[in-house]
Amino acid sequence: MRLLADLHTHTVASGHAFSTVTELANAASGKGLELIAITDHGPSVPGGAHAWFFWNSKAIPAVLSGVRILKGCEANVADTDNGLDLPDEVIALLDVVAVGFHPLTGFDDATRARNTRALVRAMSNPLVDIVTHPGNTEDFPVDVATIVATAVERGVALELNNHSFDPASSRSASSYGERRFAIAALDAGASISIGSDAHFHDQVGTFDQAIAVAEEIRFPIERIVNRDAASVLEFLRDRRARPQLDVRARMER
Ligand SMILES: [Zn+2]
Ligand SMILES: [Zn+2]
Repeated sequence: MRLLADLHTHTVASGHAFSTVTELANAASGKGLELIAITDHGPSVPGGAHAWFFWNSKAIPAVLSGVRILKGCEANVADTDNGLDLPDEVIALLDVVAVGFHPLTGFDDATRARNTRALVRAMSNPLVDIVTHPGNTEDFPVDVATIVATAVERGVALELNNHSFDPASSRSASSYGERRFAIAALDAGASISIGSDAHFHDQVGTFDQAIAVAEEIRFPIERIVNRDAASVLEFLRDRRARPQLDVRARMER
């Protein structure tokens, strides 16, 4: 299995990542990727980007080094009206919106019931497209069946996060959880996104371990949203109208 799009990457703007948009684009180009999404951390992660950063992501070209660049975010689940740490007015401007739990954002040691309630609320926001590393149930336990059912109902993709399988990752204990989520998604008919979660440009498009899991459990390739640029754009446009995806790519290609 080869995937030509990476919907989960971080730049220096995340506060604990070390490459620029240009470096990510060049690395993606070198690896033959067609598309990447820049998904920096929302403001409630220590050192995370301010809402204005996301508001101004229109400053980034739609194509860099021949790679389609989607302007996105990895928002944090939050106790706010829209379920996220970024306002709807800002995330509505983005090409792709991911959300996940992270340490020090108000859910450390929270109960399974509270986490599940908060994540369902975030996923019920029609602007949310992807849940990142849902299998990190060691740190943020959730009710798997409820989250997978919500993903199917809302058409939200669940991520199979490659970085969670890295022994050096703070989440390596959650590789079991990522696998369990992928199996639950398989059984329920949910879509998945396989993301690198690159915090340095050499990791962009690195999916080996997540792909091995997808192949092992025979996850159908047509339900992996990041097969290539066309499958990503189809997934996003099917969820809601995103006229900016067409306009900017046409103008800047
Ligand atoms: Zn994350
Ligand atoms: Zn991330």
